[in-house]
Amino acid sequence: MSGKITFTMIKPDAVADGHIGAILGKIAEAGFKFKALKLTQLTVADAKKFYEVHAARPFYGELVEFMSSGPIVAAVLEKDNAVEDFRTLIGATNPADAAEGTIRKMFARSVGENAVHGSDSDENALIEAQFHFSGREIF
Ligand code: ADP
Ligand code: MG
Repeated sequence: MSGKITFTMIKPDAVADGHIGAILGKIAEAGFKFKALKLTQLTVADAKKFYEVHAARPFYGELVEFMSSGPIVAAVLEKDNAVEDFRTLIGATNPADAAEGTIRKMFARSVGENAVHGSDSDENALIEAQFHFSGREIF
C-alpha cells in the first residue's frame, strides 16, 4: 500500500457542464475523504506552472488556455493507495479509451477537456496540494 493523499481538480469543462455535485459524489462513494476543497480559477501563469512538465508537448498552449478559462474545483483527497485508486476511478486520459463507469467516461468532453485531474505519484500529489492550498486549508 502506498501513500494516503492525492490531489484532484474538476476541470473547467465539467464545472461549466454542471457536474461538480455528481463528480464529488462519485469521489466520496469511492471511499475518498476530503482534506481540502475549494472553487477557484487558475491564472494563465498558474496553469503554465502547474503543467510545466508538459511544456514541450504540442497541446501545452491549448491545455494552459483551457485550464485557465473558467472556474475549477481543487481538492486534496485521502484514502489508502490514493494516487493509484483515484487514477482508476477517473479512467484513461482520453475518455474514448476510459472504462465504463469512470469519471472521464461519464463526464469528459474530449482528450483535452477531460473533466478531472489526478496526481500521478505520491511526490506530485504533495507538490500539487501545496501549489493550491496553504497549510491551514488542509485538514
Ligand atoms: P493525465 O491527466 O491523464 O495524467 P497527461 O498528464 O498525459 O494525462 O496530460 C495532462 C493533460 O493534458 C490531460 O489530462 C489533458 O487535459 C491534456 N492532454 C493530454 N493529452 C492530450 C492530447 N493529445 N491533446 C490535447 N490535450 C491533451
Ligand atoms: Mg498527468
